[in-house]
This record gives sequence, C-alpha cells and structure tokens, in this order.
Amino acid sequence: MSHHAVDVIRAKRDGRELADAQIAWFIEGYTRGRVAPEQAAALLMAVVWRGMSARELDAWTEAMIRSGSRLDLSSVPLPTVDKHSTGGVGDKVSLPLCPLVAACGAAVPQLSGRGLGHTGGTLDKLEAILGFRSDLSAAEVVAQLREVGAVICAAGEDLAPADRELYALRDVTGTVESIPLIASSIMSKKIAEGTAALALDVKVGGGAFMTDLPRARELARTMVGIGEDNGVRTAALITDMDAPLGRAVGNALEVRESLEVLEGGGPPDVIEVTLALAEEMLALAGVDADPAAALADGRAMDRWRRVIRAQGGDPDAPLPAAPLVEEVRAEAVGVVEHVDAMAVGLAAWRLGAGRAQRGHPVSPGAGVILRAVPGDEVAKGQVVAELHADDEARLESGRAALAGAFRVGQGPPRVGPRVLERVGAR
Ligand code: URA
Repeated sequence: MSHHAVDVIRAKRDGRELADAQIAWFIEGYTRGRVAPEQAAALLMAVVWRGMSARELDAWTEAMIRSGSRLDLSSVPLPTVDKHSTGGVGDKVSLPLCPLVAACGAAVPQLSGRGLGHTGGTLDKLEAILGFRSDLSAAEVVAQLREVGAVICAAGEDLAPADRELYALRDVTGTVESIPLIASSIMSKKIAEGTAALALDVKVGGGAFMTDLPRARELARTMVGIGEDNGVRTAALITDMDAPLGRAVGNALEVRESLEVLEGGGPPDVIEVTLALAEEMLALAGVDADPAAALADGRAMDRWRRVIRAQGGDPDAPLPAAPLVEEVRAEAVGVVEHVDAMAVGLAAWRLGAGRAQRGHPVSPGAGVILRAVPGDEVAKGQVVAELHADDEARLESGRAALAGAFRVGQGPPRVGPRVLERVGAR
C-alpha cells in the first residue's frame, strides 16, 4: 500500500497515532531512498516532540529489524548473551567484559559501533591493537563464537540498515535524545543480531544521553519491554555517568586500562561495572559461575588473548602512543568533588580520539588520563590530568575543552557506587 510522507509527518506532528502500515512504509521508503532525508528528518523531529505509543514503538522497531537480515546463531552450542551500553565517557567495559563472560561459559556476540561525538566506540578502541580486524562476515562471526566463545566486531551492512541511515540523520538533526528513537535503534540491532539474552547498561548523568534518573529508568523499562516482547531475555543496569568511568579516555589509553582490569587490577569503578554486568549476563544466560574468580585467576585474560588473535590482532604488540603529552595542574588545594564527564569526553574527542564525521580516521594514541578522580585530595599545582595528542593544534583545542572540568572544594568527598538500579523482567 502506498502512503504520502507528508500525511505521515502531519499526523505525528499533530499528535495522532500512526498506523503500523504507515510506519512500515515510511521506514522502508527512507531506507530504500523513496522518502527524502528532509521528510525523514521532519518525522524524527515530530517523534522527539510527540513521542510514540507502545504500539507505534513495536511497529517502528519491527520495521527497522525487517529492513535487513537476522543473524542465525542457532549452531552456537553455548547460551548466547550480549551487552549494550547507551554510551558514556571512558566506558571501556565491553573490552574486559566480553572475554570474562566467555571464560565463564556463555557465548558473547558483541556487535559494536564506532564513536561519534563525545562518546567513544568499542571498535575504535580495539582497532588501536596492531592487526585487529572488526569487519567480519556473518559466517566468521558464527565460526568464532563456536570456536572461541566470543567475538567483538562491527554489525554487518545488512543488520538493521534502517538504523544506520536513521542514526546518521539523527546525529545531524538534533534528534538523538528521544527515548523511543534510542530504544528502537539499540533494540532493533540487538534483536537482529540473534542473541538469546541481553544486558543493557543505561548510563545516566552529565556525560550520558539521559541526564536524569527518571528518564534513564523510562529508557531502561522501554528497552527491557521491547527485548522481552521479542523473545530476548533482557535486563538493564542504570549506571552513573556524571564523571568519566575509570581514568583513561581515548582508544589505546582505554585498551591499556582494560588490560589492567584483565590482569586483576584497574580502577575500582571499572571493575564494579564490569562484574555487575557479568553477573547479570550470566544470570540471563542461565550459567552458574563466579566472574570475580575468572578475572582474578587469569581465565578472562587468556580468553581476551584468544579473541584478539582470532581477529588478526597481536595481543603482545606495543599499543600506539601519542607523541605529545601535556600535564594539567590543580588550581586550588582541596578535594576533587567532581570531574565533568562531558568536558573530558569533548576534550578527548578534540585531542583526536573521536571523529567529527563518519568515515574519518581517529588517532589511536590520543585522549585524556585522569591523574585525580572524585574523592582524591589534591595540592595546588598537582597534576590532575594528562592530555595526549599528535600535534599542537589538537593539544590546544583539547586544553580549551578541559578547562573547568575539575571542581575542587573543601567538603568531604561524595563518591557513591556506579551501579544505581536494576530494571528487569524477573
Ligand atoms: N546508541 C544507539 O545505537 N542508538 C542510539 O540511538 C543511541 C545510542
């Protein structure tokens, strides 16, 4: 059946509920180039303002899944479980988590993305490792899951292609921050990927898309609902993203910090989120295992090395380092009360760790190291951060973005847990 794009846009603009057939026609039309980008952009903006009913959201997600093919993981002999984060600053958790959960006996198909804007992407981080390949075919994904129990790679071209097109448009039209649009974007990819279970990490705070807890809860509940309705056992943890996670922000810098976690060390907050998500994933997969033991006794590190090698990477090669390192010093004595995640994310991006446009290369060595984190006492002039960059111009731009990111006060440190709440069907 044929529809008119303008009628669909007007209906949503005026707050009327769209029919399933209108939604399916619009999404298919945009993916195949029959609906113009300006019309899709207008509908997206109307959705940002008007929202979607549960029925519309189901139809929208279904249309995105149907825009491509589904991966068939039925030949993988272990229970499959994936994790997805809504995106944060210094969020390198997928790197230690994927081999850790595989070492505990589940199979992890981690289909990931690249960074755009102030949040980093898992693939950019892994590609800092010499030789690492992230563009695997569907057959290679299945074969690696069967042999190694884990894979971290790009979602293939044919996996929810509507999302790729819509996300690129949302990114340049100010229409990313919408609960139904984020939920359908994430869940269409995860359902098409074929995982049996999914743990979501919904970030909340100044460095996340959801800046307050009620909206983070609503996003978590919406995604858990979509997953369960589509036969994917789903749960979400809401985790704090007011300050960057850990101390490293930037591709190779975050790989190094992930290796520290796999070696049994690393920052306590990265360990906390990694173990909480691992426990959630194993429970969803029905695997009874202790992830803390697998981290401590080196099984997770062994699995990491197998995953990296299976994808062409050299786990022993030195990681790239940026040639310029500049220290940032505290302007006052006191206790670090807050480190602004958004400012640190923007600084890392400007230093070269992120890209301004799709397809642009990133600098593997660039980024920020926090030498002081919330709760630390600092003296005036003490080094609180390092900026890593390839050239002076980027260093200057990163320095400007980081200005004011540290709040040093006199009060007692207020450092709470990262994991705030759980949202699940069980
Ligand atoms: N991550 C996604 O994949 N989609 C969104 O809309 C936001 C974060």
